[in-house]
Amino acid sequence: MTSPATITDDLRRLPLPELERRLRDLDEHTRELERELEQQRSELAWSNDRLVAEVYQHHGLSVDAERVRNFDAATGLPNRTSFVHRVEQVVAERTQSGEPAALVVLGIDRLASVRDSLGFALADQVAQRIGERLVHAAQGSVLVARIGDDEFALVLSTLRATRDVAAVARRLIEVVDGPMRVGEIDLRLMATIGVALIPEDGTQPEMLLARAQAAMRFARENGTRLYQFYSASIGQNGARRLRLESELRGAIDRGEFTVHYQSRCKLRGGRRVVGVEALLRWDHPERGLISAGEFIDVAEETGLITPIGEAVLRKACFDAARWPKSVGLSVNLSTREFRGARLESIVDRALGDSGLQPSRFLVELTEESLQREVDHTDSALARLTALRERGVRVVLDNFGTGSCSLDLLRRCRAEYVKISSQLIRALGADADVFVIVRTIGALARHFGAAVIAEGIEDSGQLSAALQAGCSEGQGFYLGRPVTAEQMSALLRARPARSTA
Ligand code: C2E
Ligand code: MG
Repeated sequence: MTSPATITDDLRRLPLPELERRLRDLDEHTRELERELEQQRSELAWSNDRLVAEVYQHHGLSVDAERVRNFDAATGLPNRTSFVHRVEQVVAERTQSGEPAALVVLGIDRLASVRDSLGFALADQVAQRIGERLVHAAQGSVLVARIGDDEFALVLSTLRATRDVAAVARRLIEVVDGPMRVGEIDLRLMATIGVALIPEDGTQPEMLLARAQAAMRFARENGTRLYQFYSASIGQNGARRLRLESELRGAIDRGEFTVHYQSRCKLRGGRRVVGVEALLRWDHPERGLISAGEFIDVAEETGLITPIGEAVLRKACFDAARWPKSVGLSVNLSTREFRGARLESIVDRALGDSGLQPSRFLVELTEESLQREVDHTDSALARLTALRERGVRVVLDNFGTGSCSLDLLRRCRAEYVKISSQLIRALGADADVFVIVRTIGALARHFGAAVIAEGIEDSGQLSAALQAGCSEGQGFYLGRPVTAEQMSALLRARPARSTA
């Protein structure tokens, strides 16, 4: 072994730049060791917490019911109650020391669907793995907790500046996203993050948590794998959502929802009406008729879409059963409805009770919602097969602007592909868009689907859609959404023409 004296002599002989380089290496190495130490410390703390929770659980409530209540059973991590309590302590410390800290909420985007399709036991294992990854990744965190079924939270406390939070957020998104094998299943989950800074965004734990959650929801609206810091405008948006949610509940009780219908026409040969799309409307006592676009996301997020969607589907089947047999009926299904355990029985009952032929019934699934099923493609495709076995057909809605893989287009074998109005609007003016639409159309036709142009607003867009290979179209130019009575009248008056 080299003695310390020899090392010193060796070092003395080195040129200055080399000596500096070695010092830098040494520095980096020390930092690395510190990081590892910190990581092991938090792993140890986490394992300890888990162990304690397991032991307490094992021995039943008699040992320390209070303690058990503070931990999440699946992950062993502190739960929401104890997290809030510990945030209180962190806030008190930080207020005294003046050092910054941050509360981070992670929404795990596909955990709910794992639970729905693979069951609670596997979902618990997935949650446990995520917990482990977060503890590993968040080296500067004093606390990692599971605060809800799909939500984890962290307090970051060893921060030098706010930008450190952004770096940690990016790292957390990456670690959640890493491939995961649970049982026989390969999974890929994604996280969306919201951040509230302590003390800038508040000093009350519940308020900080609510603000980080609001920021997370805001990020989620813009996609997944994103992080968002809380801001006042997000707060206003959150308040609006809460109001909207309670108004929606009231609207269900008062029966204020109704359905309007927009015609779908052949673009050639007299623009014959071949179908109608059911579109949800809220007949608000003060604000008048409100379009689905203004509240559908909140209905989906809160689960209210389930009772509302079922009512839409039933009413639409009863209305359409009175219309000519050559006219199909499309109903939009949100992700939640599509995943719902009762979907087939809802469809069966609505078709059976109304007498609408299944071959006239189409479900519209957006490209985005089908892409969300990418981890469970097999169960999503099995569901499509179950619907098809009943004679129901599938429309891949809003196609061309999201991130649906072309392979999914091949595998889902939709009978119709509806090209997004965003593309149709740019069709005449942008040669690149024209090529995109024509290519999507060719691909869709290759897989056996008819191509619908959505959102046609003028004659220019109509002829461009025709040139790009769309055989059917929908849009204000061909017919605005109207009530069931108006649609009945229109179909009686001009059964073979567009309803414009
Ligand atoms: P979507 O399925 O893509 O429906 C088309 C939307 O574009 C409708 O908005 C329609 O009123 C509007 N639209 C149709 N033609 C034109 C046009 O030429 N120009 C313009 N600017 N807009 C046009 P709406 O009714 O607000 O619906 C928005 C979205 O809400 C729908 O998009 C659909 O995804 C969802 N939705 C509507 N009804 C239901 C429902 O009953 N259940 C579920 N789950 N979702 C629904
Ligand atoms: Mg649609």
